[in-house]
Amino acid sequence: MNILIINCGSSSIKAEVINAQDGHRSLVLRAERLLDIPEIKIDDEKIPCAVSGHEAVLEFVVAELKRRTAEMNLKGIGHRVVHGGAAFDQAVLIDEKVEATIEELNELAPLHNPVNLSGIQLAKKYFTDLPHIAVFDTAFHQTLPRRAKTYALPSELNEKYNIQRFGFHGTSHQYVSQVAAKFLGREIRELRIISCHLGNGCSVAAIEYGRSIETSMGMTPLEGLVMGTRSGDIDPGILLYLKNKEALTIEKMDQLLNKESGLKGLSGGSSDMRDLIKRSTEGDDNARLAIQVFTHRVRKYIGAYAALMGGVDAVIFTGGIGENSPVIRHRIAQRLDFLGAMINEDKNHDAQLDEEQNVYDFSWNHSRAKLLAIKTDEQYSIAQQAGKLIREETKVNTVPPIPIAISARHMHITQETLEQLFGEGYQLTEKKPLSQPGQFAANERVTVVGPKNQIERVRILGPCRSKNQIEISRTDEFFLGIDAPIRESGKVENTPGCTVIGPKGKVVLKEGVICAWRHIHMTPEEAEIFQVKDRDIVDVAIGQGERSLTFGNVLIRVSPKYKLEMHIDTDEGNAAEIARGAVGVLIATDGQATLRKKKI
Ligand code: ADP
Repeated sequence: MNILIINCGSSSIKAEVINAQDGHRSLVLRAERLLDIPEIKIDDEKIPCAVSGHEAVLEFVVAELKRRTAEMNLKGIGHRVVHGGAAFDQAVLIDEKVEATIEELNELAPLHNPVNLSGIQLAKKYFTDLPHIAVFDTAFHQTLPRRAKTYALPSELNEKYNIQRFGFHGTSHQYVSQVAAKFLGREIRELRIISCHLGNGCSVAAIEYGRSIETSMGMTPLEGLVMGTRSGDIDPGILLYLKNKEALTIEKMDQLLNKESGLKGLSGGSSDMRDLIKRSTEGDDNARLAIQVFTHRVRKYIGAYAALMGGVDAVIFTGGIGENSPVIRHRIAQRLDFLGAMINEDKNHDAQLDEEQNVYDFSWNHSRAKLLAIKTDEQYSIAQQAGKLIREETKVNTVPPIPIAISARHMHITQETLEQLFGEGYQLTEKKPLSQPGQFAANERVTVVGPKNQIERVRILGPCRSKNQIEISRTDEFFLGIDAPIRESGKVENTPGCTVIGPKGKVVLKEGVICAWRHIHMTPEEAEIFQVKDRDIVDVAIGQGERSLTFGNVLIRVSPKYKLEMHIDTDEGNAAEIARGAVGVLIATDGQATLRKKKI
């Protein structure tokens, strides 16, 4: 399935025709120096261009693409859009409403969104009968928990101007984390990954079990790591100080932080890491300092993100610097043994990434956490996401509605803990069966004690399991004073514990308190009908018309033992005003699954 990918920037345009299934490229166009004398190349051929100015060159390029792709059997166009704000958590088919929302977000990305939109509008003019899909740099980070998204400014200001961390490079972080999981032969939902995208722009993401939970770029791409020309993190007080000292206008501040800082500012000239490495070996102290500040900051973030996830299984290096520079990888990844990541210097030195080999493991075989250099491919990822959406649109859907059930707080218990709480040899007694075959609500109830309060009569669900697990809602979490992460059932590593009191004893659990990840149980046959796999992530729409509500990030659980049902917790049920007998409709799936979209 050939997809034309258009990445329309302010000073350059990149376009490629990519096969969404295997990544094969049939055409590669690069148009650079758009604001100057445009240089356009298609594959290796230089294309003369008589026009000038962004709009005119863009039109020239799109017309050229139309002519050259006539025989390529294009199935759709994928557009890279930098800012999707809080509106988009995945790729979407572009309609008028989507265009209007992208335009509304211009303010947040003034250098990018307007030109991205120009690219979309011109492409729609030339490719009238093809579906156009927008893929957003911010979408992957929409799973960031509130605590990571929120800046500690007055909340009225945050709300009034929608100030929050959005994060960028999402397409790259998502793509390389999937490549890493495949390479390691593991499910992405089992891995804690720190992905370092180090190019001209740089960012780190903490990807916990497939979800981005923290990232270094913020409301704008200015925050976080030291970049080619951007400062990354600085004390905001510096700006207040400089404003007076240097009479800085807003425009000058923008120029200073975005264009004159980072590696370029520190080194006094170049933002190109290759130059800096060369100069530093020749004794240039400014270049040395630039490299030290750059790598120090990346290490600092790796440590912080490992702390957030309670450990790490793989650290990924990608982007021009991460993929190509053993020196920088060494400076960042040395002495990470305490995290279980042990660099093999020979392998690091020998790592060569190309079309054939897009992953290279440069840690020791016995290193518990892996160090991986991975070649990112954002255009291919856009083609894949667009391809999935197009396949979906052309499908007729006959999927059944999904019954919704609200799970009250409850506890799963081991036989050992049960006996500690209820006495030796004690067995759970069934109060009533649950909808999932074999499961039951027990008569037995316990008191759960947190640092702040306790909740009595928390029901135990049977039968006994191999791990203790207490599932509570956000409201319970605050009442108890416990900071419980959102997890799928069974994933209790690095979760907080609590005290549980039964009639015959008290147990202090080291871990096990979670907010359950909303999920759908289904059989393999039903998974076939929905075209999903175990652990895919989907969206579910509940209700209709004005009152309809979409639950994003719903986890699929497949087992022959299950009955089709979606489980949400009491907070979510209340928020959605869900009544008895409510049903949901599966509208899209993400992650590694086939992306499906149902018209409802
Ligand atoms: P962008 O973010 O614009 O896509 P890239 O991902 O291509 O940029 O990264 C550009 C950066 O990668 C530049 O700083 C460049 O110096 C650096 N780079 C490329 N190759 C090497 C190399 N062999 N050693 C060190 N740095 C490299």
